[in-house]
Formats: sequence, C-alpha cells, structure tokens
Amino acid sequence: MGRPLVAILSGAGLSTDSGIPDYRGPNGLWRRDPEAERLVTYSSYLADPDIRRRSWLMRRDSPAVKAEPNAAHHAIVALERSGVPVRVITQNVDGLQQRAGFPERKILELHGSARAVSCTRCHARSSMDEALARVTAGEPDPACEACGGILKAATVMFGERLDPEVLARAMAIAKACRILVAVGTTLQVQPAASLAGLASEGGARLVIVNADPTPYDPLADQVVREPIGTALPRLLRELPRD
Ligand code: ZN
Repeated sequence: MGRPLVAILSGAGLSTDSGIPDYRGPNGLWRRDPEAERLVTYSSYLADPDIRRRSWLMRRDSPAVKAEPNAAHHAIVALERSGVPVRVITQNVDGLQQRAGFPERKILELHGSARAVSCTRCHARSSMDEALARVTAGEPDPACEACGGILKAATVMFGERLDPEVLARAMAIAKACRILVAVGTTLQVQPAASLAGLASEGGARLVIVNADPTPYDPLADQVVREPIGTALPRLLRELPRD
C-alpha cells in the first residue's frame, strides 16, 4: 500500500480569486441569463451559426483567457510536491490548476477544458488559442481543419453527457481516497455532489471549504467558511500525513 490518497474536489469558488465568475453553478451567470445559456447549449450551438459566432466572441473576450492561478491553486501544487499522493477532480474548465504546475495526468476535468477545442464530427482536438486567433483574424465560426465540421470548446455543454470514462475514474478516486477536500463547490450539481457522498461512505475524512453551506455539511468531518485563498493553504499544510 502507498501513502493514503488525498482527493481535491474543486469547483468555481477555487477560481474566484483569479477573476473567473461562476458561469455554470446553480446560481451561475449562464443559469440566470437564458440568452447566454443558449451559447453553451449543445443543440442551439449546433443548429445556429449566429450562436456559434457569439459563443466564440464570448470565449475570446472572457476574463478566463487572461486569468492566472491563485494561492489556492498553488497550495494544491505544494501539497502534491510534498510527496502526498493527490488527485484533483475539478468542475472547472479554466485549466488554472495545471497552469499552476499540477501534473496533467493527476487531474480529472469533469466538465472538460476550455483550453482546447474539439470537432463535433471527427472529434479531433486542437488548441483554443489557435481557434481564437482564427476568430480574431476574421473567421467568425472557424471550422475543423481536418474535416470541415463544426468546432466547439472541449467543455461539456448543457445537453451533453459527461465523459463516462472521466466519471468512472473520478468515482474510483472518491472511493479510494482517505481524505476528500471539497473546495469552492456548492455540492449541488451532479456528479460532484455524489462524489463527496461516495468518499464519505467509503470512510474518507470529508472536509468542505466553501463560502456557503452545502447539503453535505452534516456529513463532513470539518467545514471551513473562511475565504478559500487563505483557508485552503493553511488547511492543506495542516493535513494529517498518515
Ligand atoms: Zn473534424
């Protein structure tokens, strides 16, 4: 047996200090603005070139493009570098955890990645930066360079299924971990919520760091309401190491 596994389950609150708003949560921007929600709804996106044109502009002008990792992302990297086996399961698509230096192979992005684009026909992947450069150069709705199909951000849009393989791996981590730290997530959206439940049922220590109460607070061994940027670094430094 190796050293006990720590799982970090992260949501939008982890990236708030980086200037990225909560787009997708229960009270997220997209949920409050039906017109904006159409930009990230798969059926509307496929059906309407105007939606796609606006969606590319929205991505290009998003604060996420220039966002930098914050103290909480760096604290998770520091934990991993201290020799503790850590896996990150994130609802975020911003890629900031990897930008902070966390190993790509140890992170599962439940909602995909906004740093990449994928073709809706041949599924080829390429970089978001490249696609946005094409938008800026005058292609309002850049097509797949391999097959001419419709390109989209490699995120899970509303109306799309989560990648079953990513989900299965996340569930396995939730069951195997000894400590699960849920940070910046309201635990109101599946599958994140059920992952906290799985970890708790499996006997893991459940720690919740979130500004607002979550439905899993009664199950938690520790609930922290302080700002994530200061609370998470301290909490991860003080984690029991065995
Ligand atoms: Zn294609």
